[in-house]
Amino acid sequence: VIQLKDVNKHYGPLHVLKDINLTVDKGEVLVIIGPSGSGKSTLCRTINRLETIDSGQILIEGRPLPQEGKALAEVRAEIGMVFQSFNLFAHRTILDNVTMGPVEVLKTPKQQAQDEALVLLDRVGVKEQAAKVPAQLSGGQQQRVAIARSLAMHPKAMLFDEPTSALDPEMINEVLDVMVGLARDGMTMVVVTHEMGFARRVADRVVFMADGAIIEEGAPEEFFTHPKTKRAQEFLDSIK
Ligand code: ATP
Ligand code: MG
Repeated sequence: VIQLKDVNKHYGPLHVLKDINLTVDKGEVLVIIGPSGSGKSTLCRTINRLETIDSGQILIEGRPLPQEGKALAEVRAEIGMVFQSFNLFAHRTILDNVTMGPVEVLKTPKQQAQDEALVLLDRVGVKEQAAKVPAQLSGGQQQRVAIARSLAMHPKAMLFDEPTSALDPEMINEVLDVMVGLARDGMTMVVVTHEMGFARRVADRVVFMADGAIIEEGAPEEFFTHPKTKRAQEFLDSIK
């Protein structure tokens, strides 16, 4: 579904992505881990062109990622993104937050969008909160709404950038559980996370990044028990 070929990016003198080659297959759960500043968020953001790249290619379902305009908007609608901060519209209800995209972008009739939204809110466990505004919800509930909002666009893939790192510990699992459910349902997912338990349990493949490069990738069991590189070993030791 997603393919990166020799992708390079600089921020001024900083070479933030170095010859990144990565393929995410349909239904695959790819977890990206690595130290702070290694380029994980930047990599995620290039996939739906929230960041431009200096060289290389990004293909979505075999087609080059459009540069701009309607074609880019369409790709963005197909690739859901969930960030650390939930970015919900503060003055709109939870239901509105989930129906806005489908109504405005997909031109779904309002009633149908609302019906679908309630099914999704139920699936992530916050249906009772539909009439509230975001500030009335806990962080974990807001993040689950953000996931429902992405799902409402019927994405082909979902990108998660540290979706639980702004949450209080007791709320982390309720969000991870929703993500586990998505993975089980066959969603194609790219997940940047520090939750190693999740990575171990749910990832089909783990990618370890450091200093802008992919240092190592492999099956989670193999990676966590026998990392091949010293850099990965050091990272795993540091987070124990
Ligand atoms: P973290 O685990 O802390 O989220 P990360 O792996 O996601 O880190 P990035 O956010 O991708 O790392 O940042 C990679 C590098 O690029 C860092 O050195 C960061 O300071 C730098 N960087 C990120 N965004 C910008 C920007 N807009 N302008 C300049 N430098 C940036
Ligand atoms: Mg980051």
